[in-house]
Amino acid sequence: MPRIRLRGLDIEVEEINDQTFEELLGRKVSVPANCSYCGGNINIVEDKLIYGQTYGNQLFVCENWPKCNALAKVPPNNTTPVALADRILRQARVAAHNAFDRQWKRGKLTRSQAYEKLSRLMSISRAECHISMFDIHQCQEVIFLCASGEFQ
Ligand SMILES: [Zn+2]
Repeated sequence: MPRIRLRGLDIEVEEINDQTFEELLGRKVSVPANCSYCGGNINIVEDKLIYGQTYGNQLFVCENWPKCNALAKVPPNNTTPVALADRILRQARVAAHNAFDRQWKRGKLTRSQAYEKLSRLMSISRAECHISMFDIHQCQEVIFLCASGEFQ
């Protein structure tokens, strides 16, 4: 079995293939092919191993963790595409989310209206308009739009 180092611990992980994932999770999931940052294989672990406490999630983690810190939450179903994010992208998404939420919650728009407006301003469809799927440039754009007061 492959091993990875997590939080200073040497951990044995399941050999990953689609079937293992499905057996492990009891449901179908779309598995990222390889790490989009370093090309490493993707392992699945309990979030406790990464965060030190559990939030009840399982994570796709690059086999080269923590040198490569790409990870993604295993989605609850197979409808969500999975894109791994490194630490910087995760921080950018949190910052974009915070700026966006802070602004529409204080303003006149509902959450749904704010997302509608965001998708229009970013020229993407509403279906693609999820900060959790944004790349770093899109996160910067959200923060810029918030700084311009677009969602007040
Ligand atoms: Zn990687």
